[in-house]
Amino acid sequence: MSNKLDPFAQKHLTARVNYYREMGIYDFYRRPVEERPELVLQTAADAAPEAEASLPSPLSTVQDKPAALKIIREDIGDCTRCRLHKGRTKLVFGVGNVNADIMFVGEGPGADEDAQGEPFVGRAGQLLNNMISAMGIKREEVYIANIVKCRPPGNRTPEKDECDTCSPFLMRQIEVVQPKVIVALGAVAAKNLLAINDSMANLRGRWYDFRKCKLLVTYHPAYLLRDPRQKKEAWKDLQMVMKYLGLKGPAKSVQE
Ligand code: URA
Repeated sequence: MSNKLDPFAQKHLTARVNYYREMGIYDFYRRPVEERPELVLQTAADAAPEAEASLPSPLSTVQDKPAALKIIREDIGDCTRCRLHKGRTKLVFGVGNVNADIMFVGEGPGADEDAQGEPFVGRAGQLLNNMISAMGIKREEVYIANIVKCRPPGNRTPEKDECDTCSPFLMRQIEVVQPKVIVALGAVAAKNLLAINDSMANLRGRWYDFRKCKLLVTYHPAYLLRDPRQKKEAWKDLQMVMKYLGLKGPAKSVQE
């Protein structure tokens, strides 16, 4: 039997590989295709003749988001790609609604997140939960992740090479979830996502086009705990998100 792919499959396999390269992913592992129905490429034999002209971008074909996220998690594996793995208790992948309109992206896990394997579960997480509630939505309705998935020692800022190693996985999570809005929490998230080096004062309070969605920068909840006077500025940012998505805020109870 010939090992050659038919031209249709060849073309789309090439497109997919190029797409992953753009996201900084170079390593591929072979798995049995029967176990990966969501990743099976359509062959010329299966395809309707008109399908080729309107072929969607590679990952817009992801039908099963939980399965696709599971694959990303499996690809990360018991990661030792950067030095942060050395102090890790639990890798913090990300959590939330796979169909979320809003994705919050923080910097990296702290002690509580490292212990529990879930982002934003400590004090900063409590404030983030309050910010989300103030928007009239629940934590379970959004998706939450970080630039790096392992806790930097002593909660130091993650180094550039650590962010560069880890963020391709976040990019893949974003591609799968396809939120309408990404809220970058703090300078590390903002600078890594936008590749802009500027002050928080300049970065926040305006919209950016980011891949297929909008991105807005606001203060990190941990910073707001240290300087609560900035909460009103953060609230202005979140109100921009609410306006964009048509969120009305929490329903007023009858007693109020
Ligand atoms: N700070 C972050 O940036 N992320 C977390 O998950 C927790 C605290």
